[in-house]
Amino acid sequence: MRYDTNRMEKNNLLALVTGASRGIGRAIVLELAKNNYDVAINYNRSEENARKLQEEAKTYGVKAEIFRADVSDYEQVVKLFADVKSTMGAPVSVLVNNAGITRDTLLMRMKPEDWHAVINTNLNAAFFCTREAIRDMAKARYGRIINIASVVGLTGNAGQANYSASKAGIIGLTKSTAREYAERGITANAIAPGFIATDMTEILKPEVKDGILHTIPVKRMGQPEDVANAVIFFAKDTSSYITGQVLAVDGGMTMC
Ligand code: NAP
Repeated sequence: MRYDTNRMEKNNLLALVTGASRGIGRAIVLELAKNNYDVAINYNRSEENARKLQEEAKTYGVKAEIFRADVSDYEQVVKLFADVKSTMGAPVSVLVNNAGITRDTLLMRMKPEDWHAVINTNLNAAFFCTREAIRDMAKARYGRIINIASVVGLTGNAGQANYSASKAGIIGLTKSTAREYAERGITANAIAPGFIATDMTEILKPEVKDGILHTIPVKRMGQPEDVANAVIFFAKDTSSYITGQVLAVDGGMTMC
């Protein structure tokens, strides 16, 4: 929350969360709303879910609006940021690059379109959104960019060459953004979730899930709220001295 020094009115900061209709993005929106951020909810296909989330976020007394955009498409991202600013009457102060997909298969079987789809949605979209957000953040000399990576961006994973590369890329993007904009009051950090219970992991076979659970010291899957809590930590004013970091939210799975 900020005070407009000319009018001495309290203004909530505005947070934009990409891919927020379900799963981790949904939990992030609710946690931001609980913490008095106005929220711009981006979705691509799940409009009904996005509308329900909008209503739920509003119960916390903040502004909440939904915005359809395929964030892997640069033109749509440009329009998204223009729409968010005009509808919400404020620029984005907190950007959470969360939209992500998987197209898992072994390298030899991975089609170029599987590669491109994952890189476009998971990595290019984060660059597009960061590029569109950064001008206003630099002008305000304040910003928080939080990128949702993955532990496989640190470790690699068989069957996920495209996804692991996109998440390793997002870590590089995070660190470069952090270095370029540290002096302007903008921090950029990444969160690397481990094995979180959402639609993305629901599709895994039971034996695959059991195999992963054995590698997690806390012996449970993470919940979307576990990731959302880490987002709030980075979003806060009090985290201004933390930038370019990668925080694993993985029940101790990686510890690297
Ligand atoms: P999910 O349940 O499958 O939800 C994915 C979200 O991304 C949906 O809201 C979807 O929106 C949105 N999305 C996909 N393509 C989009 C596009 N082109 N433009 C805009 N939105 C798009 O996934 P999740 O598990 O919550 O994952 C969220 C993030 O966490 C992803 O970046 C993922 O890689 C990362 N992550 C997840 C896990 C895990 O275990 N679940 C682990 C590590 C990292 P629509 O339905 O509206 O299309």
